[in-house]
Amino acid sequence: MSIRNMILLGPPGAGKGTQAVHLVEEFGLLHLSTGDMLRGAVEAHTNLGLQAKCFMDAGDLVPDELVIGIIRDRLGGADVRDLGVLLDGFPRTLVQAEALAGVISQLRLGELIVINIAVPDELLIRRLSGRRMCDTCSEIFHIDRDGVDVGDPCPTCTTGKIYQRSDDQVEAIAERLRNYHAKTAPLIKYYSERDMLISIDGSGTPDEVHRRVMAHLELGA
Ligand code: AMP
Repeated sequence: MSIRNMILLGPPGAGKGTQAVHLVEEFGLLHLSTGDMLRGAVEAHTNLGLQAKCFMDAGDLVPDELVIGIIRDRLGGADVRDLGVLLDGFPRTLVQAEALAGVISQLRLGELIVINIAVPDELLIRRLSGRRMCDTCSEIFHIDRDGVDVGDPCPTCTTGKIYQRSDDQVEAIAERLRNYHAKTAPLIKYYSERDMLISIDGSGTPDEVHRRVMAHLELGA
């Protein structure tokens, strides 16, 4: 199936980042994660990073106008037109979805499909509270599955150290899930009404979820 542009929708901890890596390889799309872009801005101490940091640390959404601004700028790049894009973590509100529709039509970026990865809250809490990352290669680990914890050397790149994202602390997880249900879940209805939505069961291993996604995409080809 030839895919121009794709959105990965789903609650925090649904495995959007992991699925994105597979899909980008499979379809040759450009991977744009607003979470990664914002974390990069925080680390680089840019003006955007300074404005975004307190929202991110608390598990709140960064204001729409900031996020829409960075996505609008990025979607104007020639690489997006050439390769097509996989959006991971954007849009997260109806205002962002409307803005995206406007940018895609203005820039004539072509067709957009939306993959929703559905996971129950109990499983998300278990996944997020045990999630750890490498500060150098950004590989994602889980304390139960991988036996690594904060301060350990990264088993993958060996130079980095394992850390826990500040928004993976228990209080921030609860806030992120509240935000998801209030602001992002309505996008499922929004895209479903526009006939753009594929819904996937996001429980199980990343490979199982990937196989389900591919089966749906191939059936739709
Ligand atoms: P993520 O890595 O996608 O879980 O994003 C980490 C954090 O970045 C979120 O909890 C939000 O604070 C912020 N963020 C990422 N994408 C968006 C977005 N589309 N709208 C608002 N805030 C966002």
